[in-house]
Amino acid sequence: MNYQIRPLPAGLYFVATPIGSARDITLRALDVLASADVIAAEDTRTLRKLLDIHGVPLGERPVIAYHDHNGDAARPRLMRALAEGKSVAYASEAGTPLVADPGYSLSREALEAGHLVTSAPGPSAAITALTIAGLPTDHFYFAGFQPNSSGARRAALEACADVQATLVFYESPKRLAASLADMAQVLGGGRQAAVCRELTKKFEEVRRASLAELADHYAASGAKGEVVVLVDRAGEAAMEEADVETALRRALETLSVKDAAAMVAEAYGLKRRDVYQQALSLSR
Ligand code: SAM
Repeated sequence: MNYQIRPLPAGLYFVATPIGSARDITLRALDVLASADVIAAEDTRTLRKLLDIHGVPLGERPVIAYHDHNGDAARPRLMRALAEGKSVAYASEAGTPLVADPGYSLSREALEAGHLVTSAPGPSAAITALTIAGLPTDHFYFAGFQPNSSGARRAALEACADVQATLVFYESPKRLAASLADMAQVLGGGRQAAVCRELTKKFEEVRRASLAELADHYAASGAKGEVVVLVDRAGEAAMEEADVETALRRALETLSVKDAAAMVAEAYGLKRRDVYQQALSLSR
């Protein structure tokens, strides 16, 4: 028996559940699920199955469905339980609640009503992908799911093009090739990226390459399963190239090609001859 039943202080417990391998559940998550007065779940069948795998008895406790489509109707019942001094455990279908999953409005209401809000932390696909993608983790930006239509998606990508952090996207396998093509176009085909598929499952795969290469690969092969896409930040070279071009364009508004090139070359410590060529083509 891997869990312990013990009295829990009243409050709302967000419980992280596995994103693939059922044994990734934490012992504390099992304790909370075994002990809470009320259990709520995004998908009650998935949760019952998980409890079954780990031998956690439900007893007479209710399992309340709480998801995107019934949140407003189901929340009052959970709030009532909290007001009665009960412990309420909430699990989303997989991974960490609130991370591209329901739970935010519930947490707000519980906090506003002065209840304890706490968690039994555990797996999340974003963190799992960051751990193994081979891209920098000093800063990362969770962009979640992108819009469905290509136009809206490109606009959303523009907004994170200059973020100086590894970008983390959740994707559906059906949209993967189209999204990668948009990313290559908007963020730059040369940017390093990783497609992390089926994490912690039997067919886990991480494909690391440039955005252009990944877009070509998935356009040809298609993809199955669950996917996280990570994209490296715009490199210093790319940033500097963009900065030099902007500076040159500005300088060319008032200076000759020769003087503009000299000024920008000096400012960026570059060879005059190289910058002159760039200024010349910009001026045409
Ligand atoms: N709350 C979850 C978390 O903490 O990661 C995310 C839920 S969101 C509705 C589902 C998305 O997460 C999937 O479409 C996929 O992008 C990503 N995901 C979940 N499990 C995954 C896995 N095993 N491998 C790769 N991506 C996964």
